[in-house]
Amino acid sequence: MPCALITHPDCLKHDMGAHHPERPQRLSAIEEQLAASGLAQHLQRHEAPLATDEQLARVHPLEYVRAIRDAAPAHGTVHLDPDTAMNPHTLHAALRAAGAAVLATDLVLQSKVKTAFCSVRPPGHHACRARSMGFCIFNNVAVAARHAQQAHGVQRVAIIDFDVHHGNGTEDIFEDDPSVLMASTFQHPFYPYSGTEDPAPNMVNVPLPAGAGSREFREAVRERWLPALDEFSPELILFSAGFDAHREDQLAMLQLGDADYGWVTEELKAVAGRHCEGRMVSMLEGGYSLGALGRSAVQHIKVLAGI
Ligand SMILES: [Zn+2]
Repeated sequence: MPCALITHPDCLKHDMGAHHPERPQRLSAIEEQLAASGLAQHLQRHEAPLATDEQLARVHPLEYVRAIRDAAPAHGTVHLDPDTAMNPHTLHAALRAAGAAVLATDLVLQSKVKTAFCSVRPPGHHACRARSMGFCIFNNVAVAARHAQQAHGVQRVAIIDFDVHHGNGTEDIFEDDPSVLMASTFQHPFYPYSGTEDPAPNMVNVPLPAGAGSREFREAVRERWLPALDEFSPELILFSAGFDAHREDQLAMLQLGDADYGWVTEELKAVAGRHCEGRMVSMLEGGYSLGALGRSAVQHIKVLAGI
């Protein structure tokens, strides 16, 4: 069965300014590497639908969703917080990003595809229940998890977050919820300075010091993530796939290489094979060095697609 690639042109129109690292060219960089690697022709393309209020309200209070709709400017730029801004296209981009999560989950759980990658922005894992943060407006991976549970009756969802920043929003939404297991690695101490103070039992948080690389990352995955995942036995695996722990990424100081992204996806694919018939949905989060982002995403998607 194929791997779906879900994206939408609206996601290219969300623009927070010329010097903002979370820029439209990130998605183009992934497309270029998908084409150059020959992987593009093996993927089943879908356009991301707009998420509905009902789908978003499983994760965010409806008042928050309405406040985001109301904040959308007709002209110019509006800041939601110091790092996150909306232009006239941002609302649709954010609704498409969350809508991609819903469609990907539907396709995988209806056995139309085995796996899916959502090449979307804005990213989601810093978005808390009722607060935008760190370039994120709606928590896309959380929308996928709740959709799987509430629309498809899935009981146990694992969320794998290898972005260099701790997914504090996802933790805010799911902490102490035994139906979701979140396994993450992140640079610490580092933005958003969370994830280490008494995490909930369903959070497998592995902080890594600045300068840590492949060896430390793989050790964390083998020794901390995999035993917890096997014990949890997920029915669906979701990825918060951020590629900013790459050594070429200037926003942070971990030292992963392209191959680590293929490796970690293989490890999770084996978990998915043991517990959930290989079902995996991946949402793009960070990754700001365009070259490293494109190459690393290809390593990840290649394994998802079984190429
Ligand atoms: Zn990040």
